[in-house]
Parts: sequence; structure tokens; C-alpha cells
Amino acid sequence: MTLPTFDHLPRVLVVEDEEPLARVVASYLERDGFEVQIAGDGVEAIARARDSAPGVIILDVGLPGIDGVEVCRAVRTFSDCYIIMLTARAEEVDKLVGLSVGADDYLTKPFSPRELVARVRAMLRRPRQSATAGGDEHAVATFGPLTIDIEGREAHLDGGLVDLTRTEFDVLAALAARPRMVFSRHQLIEAVWGAGWVGNEHLVDVHIGHVRRKLGDDPVAPIFIRTFRGIGYRMGPGE
Ligand code: CA
Repeated sequence: MTLPTFDHLPRVLVVEDEEPLARVVASYLERDGFEVQIAGDGVEAIARARDSAPGVIILDVGLPGIDGVEVCRAVRTFSDCYIIMLTARAEEVDKLVGLSVGADDYLTKPFSPRELVARVRAMLRRPRQSATAGGDEHAVATFGPLTIDIEGREAHLDGGLVDLTRTEFDVLAALAARPRMVFSRHQLIEAVWGAGWVGNEHLVDVHIGHVRRKLGDDPVAPIFIRTFRGIGYRMGPGE
């Protein structure tokens, strides 16, 4: 997977079978300058995600036929675009976070379309950490065999490119930009998802879990991302 940079506003794919809701969401996004496509079911969603390479997908969980969870998993096999899942109940978010389906963010219905647009905007303003990394345009952080090119948005392990999604990279880059700092979940959320984000903080653990797996990091004795029980995470070895 490549990590394209957005020189202009990316295309947004709205996947929702309730047509009036899809239209409302689309019109708010269009008013904000986004180019929007709508898909009414999972099969169409996967086809459009493949053909038109949207930068962001707004994905309802409850879809006829292939549900949003399966769509998310399918899209993740060929795209690292941002995915915001829409759920019918808050409890559903807990379940999906636990299943670690690969979404970047979640919103529970009913939601304000303004809030949705704000979240899309916040995602596209990443990475925030470059502003706090001392202004070095080509900051490369090295942790043993792992190098993280923050501006280039690439991580290499033993010289090989690590296949991270955007959010996974953002979490890793936030930790790497301040290697001596123990980040609480809340601080990582502020660094990656943005201040004012409201949701399930265990989303952080899920993304950390994905990054660790892709780095071959042992959750019991990690070399790259250390857990501080009851506090949060920091770069470096140790449990
Ligand atoms: Ca639906």
C-alpha cells in the first residue's frame, strides 16, 4: 500500500442504504468542498472503493447483504484510506473496537452531519505531530532496526517497508516524535484524532495492537512500543 498525500480534497465515498441520510451526509460534505459518491450496499461500496480510490469512506455498519464490517475488512485488503464507521448504538462501537475491524473512527447514530464533516477534516489535517517535532522537515526517528520517516510517512523495519494504514502510521509517528514521553490514551487521541474527539479510547489499543503485530513486536516483551500499565504507551523496549 502507498500513502498518497492529499494536494486537494480527496473524494469521499458514503456507504449507507438509507438514501435520505446518505443524501444529507453527502450534501454537507459537498458544501464543504468534497467530491462525494454514494453507494447503497456493500457490493457496490467495495467496487467503488476499488475503482475510484476515495480518500475517505463513511461506512454504515447496517447494510443489506454484505454488512459494513465485511466491507471494511474487504477494503482494507487493498486500501489504507480513512474509514469512519457509522453505528446504530454506542454498544456496537465497543464490539467493533474489540473485533478490531480496521476502521479509523466511529460515529453513533443519530449524529450531527457537522460533527461528521469536522471529523473528516480533522483526519485530513494529520499529521499534527510534525508541528511539534521541532520543525525538522526530514525528521527520521530510529529505534534499532526500525526507522520512521515522519514527513515521508514511511516506516522501515530491517530495511523493508512496513505496511501500515494511515492511522497506524499516525499513532506510531506520534509516539516516535516524542520518544521519551509516556502518552496516555487521551494524549494519543489528541495527537492523532484531534482535540475534542469523543469516543471509545480503546480504539488506541486496537491501533497499537495492529502496529505491534506489523512490527513483529511481542506484546509481552515488546522492543518498539512499551506499555505502561494504567498510564499508556511509549517508544522503547520493555513491558
Ligand atoms: Ca443502514
